[in-house]
Amino acid sequence: MTQYPHLLAPLDLGFTTLKNRVLMGSMHTGLEEAKDWNRVAEFYAERARGQVGLMVTGGMAPNLEGGVYPGAAGLFTDDDIANHKIVTDRVHDADGKIAMQILHAGRYAYGPECVAPSAIKSPISPFPPKELDEDGIEKQIADIVTSAARAQQAGYDGVEIMGSEGYFINQFLVTHTNKRTDRWGGSYENRMRLPIEIMRRTRQAVGPNFIIIYRLSMIDLIPDGSTWDEVVELAKAIEAAGATIINTGIGWHEARIPTIATSVPRAAFAWVTKKLMGQVSIPVITSNRINTPEVGEQVLAEGCADMISMARPFLADSHFVQKAIDSRSDEIAPCIACNQACLDHTFSGKISSCLVNPRACYETDLVIKPAETAKKIAVVGAGPAGLSAALTADERGHDVTLFDKADEIGGQLNMAKQVPGKEEFWGFVDWYRTMLDRSNVTLHLGTTATADDLTGFDEVIIATGVLPRDPEIQGQDSENVVSYIDVLRKNAKVGEKVAIIGAGGIGFDVAEYLVHHGESPTENLQAWKEEWGVGDPQDQRGGLRPEGPQPDAPARQVTLLQRKSEKLGRRLGKTTGWIHRASLKMKNVQMIGGVNYERIDDLGLHVSFGEARENPQVIEADTVVLCAGQVPERSLADELQERNVTIHVIGGADVAAELDAKRAINQGTRLAAAL
Ligand code: NAP
Ligand code: SF4
Repeated sequence: MTQYPHLLAPLDLGFTTLKNRVLMGSMHTGLEEAKDWNRVAEFYAERARGQVGLMVTGGMAPNLEGGVYPGAAGLFTDDDIANHKIVTDRVHDADGKIAMQILHAGRYAYGPECVAPSAIKSPISPFPPKELDEDGIEKQIADIVTSAARAQQAGYDGVEIMGSEGYFINQFLVTHTNKRTDRWGGSYENRMRLPIEIMRRTRQAVGPNFIIIYRLSMIDLIPDGSTWDEVVELAKAIEAAGATIINTGIGWHEARIPTIATSVPRAAFAWVTKKLMGQVSIPVITSNRINTPEVGEQVLAEGCADMISMARPFLADSHFVQKAIDSRSDEIAPCIACNQACLDHTFSGKISSCLVNPRACYETDLVIKPAETAKKIAVVGAGPAGLSAALTADERGHDVTLFDKADEIGGQLNMAKQVPGKEEFWGFVDWYRTMLDRSNVTLHLGTTATADDLTGFDEVIIATGVLPRDPEIQGQDSENVVSYIDVLRKNAKVGEKVAIIGAGGIGFDVAEYLVHHGESPTENLQAWKEEWGVGDPQDQRGGLRPEGPQPDAPARQVTLLQRKSEKLGRRLGKTTGWIHRASLKMKNVQMIGGVNYERIDDLGLHVSFGEARENPQVIEADTVVLCAGQVPERSLADELQERNVTIHVIGGADVAAELDAKRAINQGTRLAAAL
């Protein structure tokens, strides 16, 4: 008897059956644009082998004007069809099913050719769209339908028509972006004509035995978004026009409410999909921040949906479903919803991967093979770099000994997990512990490895991490000054008024930690919805509360400072930095850049501005927290090198500047894959 009876139940679609209730949601990985079709095929085949019920590809443009950016992948020629056939064949050989997402970006297209119902520029693109005329609209419909027919020719099991997230189809649905007065605008009947025509004609083109998923925006989270009655009316019309499945879309890309970041509670929007259950008779999929089989099972058991969609969890672990089937769910590498290697890469024009799993999208490049000769390997440091090196080396059959001076594994991950909104890091450290327990790695915790301890190994890996940088500020040894480690690891006493020196990842984390009263809205859905102003689309258009965000009062008065004169937090994650900034602003954190640190005394922190050290100012503070970056901890590495021992230095011990777990894990895994 499985632990997950709802999740692992097959779903009969009449003409075909999905082996379970898990959909791998669409992700733009950038692989299709790289045009290495063997690599694309291997990415999907690996997940098909992992037993996911159905996969949806990244968005494929139906035409050039609809691409998310010029050059975005689509199915335009016979060559494209042949290339996609490589992917579908490989997936079918692995007994998987795959649907192609058709994504017309409308005014979100990052190019001068973009088109939309009305000529209204989006706040997240510099390109004003051209308003389509009647012929233009007919062309877009025809191109989408042709795209679906080509997908069928390329061997896909179906298509997903992207009707949510504020893309082209969604832009027709709401008056926020549709100001037309012809038959495509005005009344709701007119505004929903486009998706219905697309669905009707697509079904006509592909016949009855082909999956068509419609991704429907159920809560727009923008002003003048859809009402709940409109959502239901559309869902019914889409069903009648021939859809096989309705998938949930949450929030437009321009919405100022986080929808998938790690600080969003798990399954935070399942209640929205649940409202649609019973209104249509085709299966309904729910989505967003579902990342464990337990959460998925619960969502289905509570009747929120017929199926769940997860996207990023399949980057973190391609065998998510297989491990759930085998009752090994504690071995599923967890997606911590950080976006650091997936969406942040996508938005920087880089191929996606995963912080937790550097093999994601690099399946053909980073291959973990059994070692030709088993070696004795010492790894010093059980932070992310050392852990990934130790586990990968063990997987290859090496004899690994792992040392850490701390009494627990995880290194800096143990600081991250203390921060409200970063609770996923607890599970990440737990996963490492499980994997170590099930490995043959010999673990020595509470052990400061010396150079003498490291003799007799074939390879020595130094992953000793970092030390806090000494900012050399006059008065920093006073009692009212603490470091981020004191705050996040040693629970140091911190006063009511706080000045934080340094506004990197850690300065922001410490600020977030200090403005809360020990609680985290991520742990309490109702509190989180109030904090960000999320309401019910039944009560307010788009699900935006009229009163807006209602955060709790901050626990402390915090000032965050840096010497650079750029905007604070500019170097945080591309897709999450705005959330950290917005969250601290809601807690009235003052952000001051371009300062010189003069001294610290009983009044607080004395700063000045500019090269001439003008405009002296006192930032009144009971406590000053030092978050001035980090330097490599290389003392052991240096000693070993003096003794002419060959070592491999990874993670923060190698390069501390702007270190993150993504780089550390990638470096540790790649090193161990090559030893
Ligand atoms: P950082 O990002 O390099 O930031 C260091 C901060 O200290 C900067 O604001 C810098 O600003 C300031 N600073 C540098 N030298 C200074 C000096 N001599 N005196 C005073 N201030 C100085 O480093 P971090 O904040 O330590 O963050 C890096 C770590 O954060 C990594 O371990 C990473 O894993 C973790 N992390 C990352 C994220 C993320 O979103 N990626 C989030 C949280 C934590 P100025 O030079 O302008 O003063
Ligand atoms: Fe999840 Fe982070 Fe990996 Fe993206 S990079 S898949 S958010 S763990």
